Amino acid sequence: MFFHYVGKFEIKSPILLRTALRRKSLLRFLGKTAMQWQFNDSQLEIQAMVREFTRREVTPHAEEIDATSKFRLDIFKKMGDSGILGIVVPEAYGGINADYVSWCLAVEEINKGSAAIGNALTLTTSMCNYLLLMGSEKQKQNYLAPIVAGEKFCAFGLTEPQAGSDAKAVKSRVEPDGDGYRLNGQKTFTSGAKFADYIVVVATENPSLGTKGISAFLVDMKSPGVEIGDAFDMMGMRGMGTCEVFFSDVRVEGKDRLGPSGGGLRAILGGLDGPGRLGAAAQAVGTAIAAFDYSVKYAHERKQFGEAIATFQAMQQKIASMSIDIQAARLMVYKAAELTQNKMPHTREVSEAKVFASDACMRVTTEAMQILGGYAYVKEYPIERFFRDAKIHQIWDGTNEIQRMLIARNVSELVTRGQDLF
Ligand SMILES: Cc1cc2nc3c(=O)[nH]c(=O)nc-3n(C[C@H](O)[C@H](O)[C@H](O)COP(=O)(O)OP(=O)(O)OC[C@H]3O[C@@H](n4cnc5c(N)ncnc54)[C@H](O)[C@@H]3O)c2cc1C
Repeated sequence: MFFHYVGKFEIKSPILLRTALRRKSLLRFLGKTAMQWQFNDSQLEIQAMVREFTRREVTPHAEEIDATSKFRLDIFKKMGDSGILGIVVPEAYGGINADYVSWCLAVEEINKGSAAIGNALTLTTSMCNYLLLMGSEKQKQNYLAPIVAGEKFCAFGLTEPQAGSDAKAVKSRVEPDGDGYRLNGQKTFTSGAKFADYIVVVATENPSLGTKGISAFLVDMKSPGVEIGDAFDMMGMRGMGTCEVFFSDVRVEGKDRLGPSGGGLRAILGGLDGPGRLGAAAQAVGTAIAAFDYSVKYAHERKQFGEAIATFQAMQQKIASMSIDIQAARLMVYKAAELTQNKMPHTREVSEAKVFASDACMRVTTEAMQILGGYAYVKEYPIERFFRDAKIHQIWDGTNEIQRMLIARNVSELVTRGQDLF
């Protein structure tokens, strides 16, 4: 899986990604291939296009997004115009129907520019995935195309003050109201809530049924009774408009339930295996590469004791360890992506990729800080931003402690069934 070829592409028209992909007969076979040790042409093409998009549209604004904590909806729209938001969405709903390896490559590239914009891509794909998995045909027709085009933004409301890792502890409540529902409750840490048009809300229909009483709903953020709190002043991932959302007697139409009654939590947690967790892993890889790239180049320019610091063995050890971490994380991410794409069991591999890539990202950004010495501490250099952006991947989409729990449970099941572990 090493880059033997990366072409230079200009995104000349909004539909170039789609057009380029249509040209590829290979596309027909995407999703049916076994693990490959080299990217195919379509994957390389998407990587090159998104790299160019990031260079031109994302990286120049990353510092400003971080400093002001203000999202750039115009960049989000451009991602939609370029096809990036619909990489794994079927063409019938406005996407380009490529595969998850391509998507991970795109997430890496965008994230190398800006973590907040990278998060907008992963969150959007996650919400599209929920619509595809749980939505009725009408919901798919109504919501997917505008989201994929970057015209509408959909947030995700699972976490509540008392329900973090323990997602089943959600207290947000829907009660019957004619042919629909009334929603009351509170969500927290809702990324993108500040500028979202819709939100997928996980709420209980029947508390006495426990997890089986929990459903998911699509709620219009402009509905009467929806109140958005102030954005949290975040350490990293700044600019994603992450805040609390309050629901007071919000009318939700019956047709806006997503999936079956009581099927919400199972489907939502199952879906986190896909673009949510995989996206966190790919984002972590992107940030790690950005930090590696910057610090290694710096080490070759910065001179102390008359030599470039890259010539010192202590620095070389760091550079080698960082490179190993990134290589290993990438392989795990692409393997998990391929399993996801091929609809093969992937819970363990996605969790392992998420844990390894996020831990690797922390190690790599920490060493990158060390390589820059005092200058790492200065905001003029992007390393401290990469370092701040890295931490979240160990926390969200299920903390790494929860992922390790899932991995161990998965391994134990194999042992119980007498199956090989690898
Ligand atoms: C920037 C940001 C953006 C976010 N965006 C969203 C979003 O868009 N939508 C959304 O719904 N949520 C979002 N979240 C929430 C995020 O997913 C949660 O923060 C995360 O799931 C952890 O929940 P918590 O913060 O309540 O921590 P807790 O669950 O309170 O965990 C605290 C610590 O206890 C550990 N712990 C908890 N239970 C166990 C256990 N059983 N075994 C071992 N250790 C355990 C955890 O691993 C952690 O180290 C976001 C969070 C942040 C910071």
